[in-house]
Amino acid sequence: MFTYIDPTVRERLAEQGTLFQIDRDGARIEPGSAATGGHTISILGPIPLPLRLCDIEVDVQWFACVRNTELGKIEELADDLRAQDGQQSFATLASYMAVNSVMVIGDPAKWNNPLVRVHSSCLTGDVFGSQRCECGPQMQTALARIQSDDGGGMLIYMSGHEGRGIGLWAKAATYLLQDSGEDTYQANRSLGLPDDSRDFSDSASLLKYFLRGKPFRLLTNNPKKVNDLGDFGIGGITRVKHVTGVTDSNKRYLTAKQGWGHELSEEDLGKGGGSD
Ligand SMILES: [Zn+2]
Repeated sequence: MFTYIDPTVRERLAEQGTLFQIDRDGARIEPGSAATGGHTISILGPIPLPLRLCDIEVDVQWFACVRNTELGKIEELADDLRAQDGQQSFATLASYMAVNSVMVIGDPAKWNNPLVRVHSSCLTGDVFGSQRCECGPQMQTALARIQSDDGGGMLIYMSGHEGRGIGLWAKAATYLLQDSGEDTYQANRSLGLPDDSRDFSDSASLLKYFLRGKPFRLLTNNPKKVNDLGDFGIGGITRVKHVTGVTDSNKRYLTAKQGWGHELSEEDLGKGGGSD
């Protein structure tokens, strides 16, 4: 099993069942069986994570998830570093690895059509509270909605989805282009980048593992997200509108998303609605 965690700790966690692997179809890979390749995912968890979001508290079980191909490259480099006693370089090494998160609320065994959010990471919105987009309120409101829903559900936080998949550096450039008049999609094109390059294959594997084929309700205003997940064999989705966080600062951005296919009404944009 790949991981740059010390091998003895790795073994102990694997024995406890808190480090395990799933294949692309969401099936758990038995310890000892050969499991390498591009479509397998290593998962650490469950890890209890008590959250405080503004005025609500949410108890989630956190699962950290990483693609084994990425972990494999890091492992090779880690071995070299160990040999050279280059421990101080581990932080640099690890920061290049995209670790996705699954936040489980409630007991998955009891889920019946649970509420789910697949959230694309947004440093400026989720962490800094930027109002250029509505990602922060969408994430917090999603967790609150899942918690208050019967039986709970889950949020998958996709760390490689910054700027709809173009990364933080390019996203910063698109902000400058937007401020000289381009909309969020035109700005991507000006940089020679796709409108939306997010990869939903890992989300699909995680949904298969945690939902075990159960139908679910997906919090999104973006019909394309339902299709993207469908391309990876995820069915049984009921889309649930998730409108929150509209401010004067992001209305232009949301109007561009509306034009691109997000289901947002004029009323949503005028009265405190949003997109994702
Ligand atoms: Zn955002």
